[in-house]
Amino acid sequence: MVFCFWILFILSGIAVIGITDGIDTEDKNYSKFALTIKAAAAEDYSNLLSKNTRAALLESAKDCKHLGGTPPIGYSVTPEGYYEIDETKAPIVRDIYRYYLSDMGYDDILTHLKQRGYKTSNGNDFSKSAINAILTNPKYMGTYTYDRTMPKDSDGKRNSHATKDQYIEIPNGMPAIISAEDFNKVQEKKKKNSTKHTNRTGKQYYPLNGKIFCSKCGKPFSGNINNSNGRKYYQYRRSCKCKIKSVRLEQLNRSVFYALQQCIFSPENKDAIIQKVNAKLAVQKSLQTEEIIKLTNRINGLENAQNRLISCLEEGKASKTILDKMQKNETELSALNKQLAAKSKQISTIDNAIYNKLVKQFVSYMSDVKSPEAFALKDATIKEIVINENDVTIYFNSGLTADEDTINYFNC
Ligand SMILES: [Zn+2]
Repeated sequence: MVFCFWILFILSGIAVIGITDGIDTEDKNYSKFALTIKAAAAEDYSNLLSKNTRAALLESAKDCKHLGGTPPIGYSVTPEGYYEIDETKAPIVRDIYRYYLSDMGYDDILTHLKQRGYKTSNGNDFSKSAINAILTNPKYMGTYTYDRTMPKDSDGKRNSHATKDQYIEIPNGMPAIISAEDFNKVQEKKKKNSTKHTNRTGKQYYPLNGKIFCSKCGKPFSGNINNSNGRKYYQYRRSCKCKIKSVRLEQLNRSVFYALQQCIFSPENKDAIIQKVNAKLAVQKSLQTEEIIKLTNRINGLENAQNRLISCLEEGKASKTILDKMQKNETELSALNKQLAAKSKQISTIDNAIYNKLVKQFVSYMSDVKSPEAFALKDATIKEIVINENDVTIYFNSGLTADEDTINYFNC
């Protein structure tokens, strides 16, 4: 039973399947919060715009209002000036966090975003700095922040005391797209990565990094390139001084993932797996349908708006504002259409043929493909790999048992 859940992850590496992350509870909390805020906030947003003073801005910040500019991707702003989740864009933010937490680097994340047709608010491809901004913005966990940079004083220095007064941070001040737990995990991971100078050995992927240990002292083995006789050998190497040899990357990957494959896809599991996966896919499909409806509604709305603007043009009212607005709509339309096209390309059921294909691809998929799905599967199933002097012991997490054939294969 445990397996089937994870097989979904494998599937999703092949077709595009989103995995939902418990946003429901946050939504519930938020609506409670929103009610309180709405009752308390009597001030009209347009009022604020007219007296655009620092005091007014700060006052609005205390009410967790959006204070101008483009809202962070994944949010839109209500006519009253509050943030709300834009469900056509929020999946982009959730994916970026999920990718980062599954050990993907910025380059890999950019590739995945492109495949899914995701664009920035301006209709451009994402950049590394855009991803970084998303991964560090506490608004995504619902913490409203307002950091008004103080103007420099006459000496050209910033008045640091004043800045403190201008900084506002209100936890649960706005709807969260990411759980606080995941947000904090990302910040920790970023801190770790910024101090980590090892493992920058080119583009080679070492899927078992973090799972392999020395049998004598328990220190980790990690991916590394050995140059000898003018050839490059990829391997997992010890970090201690024990007399234990390195293991070839390809050899260890293949053994571990083959063993895993045998455990998961044993013939007696087959029917149950197909059935359970299809049940999961049906749930995914209905969630997917909701997203598609939201996208389609937004697209229709924008198209109607475009048509109205075109009639304005036909009546001879071609102002710069109208043209700018049309340009903006056009950009958003094109981005949403790409997203919709990518979403529609999914599989919704698996049959015998797809199942067999999945099983066949399993070892190479797990060895070579860097995806959140592969990462999650690996993490859920492999406990640790211990390198002994003459052999290797693979510990799977409980719930996974090897069948007799597998045990024989590895013992001879
Ligand atoms: Zn050791």
